[in-house]
Amino acid sequence: MKNLALHWQILIGMVLGVLFGLGMTQWDSAGTPEVHEGASFIKDWIAPIGTIFVNLLKLIAIPLIIASLIKGISDLGDISKFKQIGFRTIGIYVTTTIIAVSIGLTIVNIVKPGSGISEETLAKLIEANQTDQSASANIAGKIETAAKTIDSGPLTFIVDMVPDNIFAAASSNGDMLKVIFFTLFFGISLLLIDKEKSVIIKGFFDGLNDVVLKMVDLIMLIAPYAVFALLANVIVSSGDPDVLVELLSYSFTVLGGLILMIGFYLTLVYFYTGRSPVGFLKAMAPAQLLAFSTSSSAATLPVTMERVEEHIGVEKEVTAFVCPVGATVNMDGTSLYQAVAAVFICFALDHPLTFADQLTIVTTATLASIGSAAVPGAGMVMLVIVLESIGLPSEKLAIGLALIFAVDRPLDMCRTIVNVTGDATVAMLVGKSVGKLGPPKVRDWDDNLEAVK
Ligand code: ASP
Repeated sequence: MKNLALHWQILIGMVLGVLFGLGMTQWDSAGTPEVHEGASFIKDWIAPIGTIFVNLLKLIAIPLIIASLIKGISDLGDISKFKQIGFRTIGIYVTTTIIAVSIGLTIVNIVKPGSGISEETLAKLIEANQTDQSASANIAGKIETAAKTIDSGPLTFIVDMVPDNIFAAASSNGDMLKVIFFTLFFGISLLLIDKEKSVIIKGFFDGLNDVVLKMVDLIMLIAPYAVFALLANVIVSSGDPDVLVELLSYSFTVLGGLILMIGFYLTLVYFYTGRSPVGFLKAMAPAQLLAFSTSSSAATLPVTMERVEEHIGVEKEVTAFVCPVGATVNMDGTSLYQAVAAVFICFALDHPLTFADQLTIVTTATLASIGSAAVPGAGMVMLVIVLESIGLPSEKLAIGLALIFAVDRPLDMCRTIVNVTGDATVAMLVGKSVGKLGPPKVRDWDDNLEAVK
């Protein structure tokens, strides 16, 4: 196993995890459906390995952002270059998100999942969630979180980026933008002081950066075992397979859109950077597989950064800014899903949808994906805001969410792959545009594949 490329090791771990999970679902006490020994065994003895792995990745996210961003800015040596990187990053992020929502809307309007859904199926889907107490509590929780977000003012998003205490901000992974803000401020100020004095601080962060990258390497040693645990747990926690079948056309619509989005990124990579799309995918595969297994772009961030920098060759000053900002604000997969889910729910619940409503979806899904946290299930919270913006009455809201809840986790796993791939693509585009895309430090593909133009 050791000689296999990392993405193969992870893939094998995932497949074995799924098989093991499926096998364990068969292990139930005869006649007592409420006692699922297999599921309990996985939850008690296997799942914790996955949790430890995700915690380890999250543990190093903040130190990694701080060390690499400070090193990145101080290596840049000139603030004007940084302005260029900043504006281009935000501009491309917003553009790709709008494209993602538009792809989602186009495909959902063509396929029209949910429009032919029978009353009986609807009742069955809704009942499946009402009888499952954890599902209905979960849905209620998402609506409540969304309500809190709506209650905040229009500029809250910007105000929230400025921390009043860096130690408090750095103590929560949810406050990544605050940490980025502080670090940028610190890095720029470091550039403005005497070289003699800044050299010690710069040396410290250089060293810290190497230590944290080594930590990523060490954590990745257990990745194949951890994804085994994560996927086995997903399998034993998933809902009734009959309900999943009812939602096939909706799920395939989301998946189709996500695949188109990946195709769009590969086209950009090929035409704009002249790099091989296959090489890009090979370099990013471990990050994509982790995104799938953890459903969290925040947990995947350390691996995304390492891959983009070392295996693709985007220089640190770009990677250190584009990737963490992307993990927080750029969620193309999530916005595409929100567009499809919103229209699907309207079709299924017979809620009229005008062209203006569809345009509203473009705006709110774009903003909602910026506001979504990079953690499992966050996209569904923001979906509430999208649905409210097109006037879905509140009594239908919970029904709408209940409708798609059963397939949310598998779709979340897939949309997180797109979120992470989008960040890497934009890092490459920005890197190329400011002359910071060099040869990869670690090669995953043949030299002749690397440059196709
Ligand atoms: N799980 C997604 C992410 O972390 C967010 C979501 O779509 O729920 O990128």
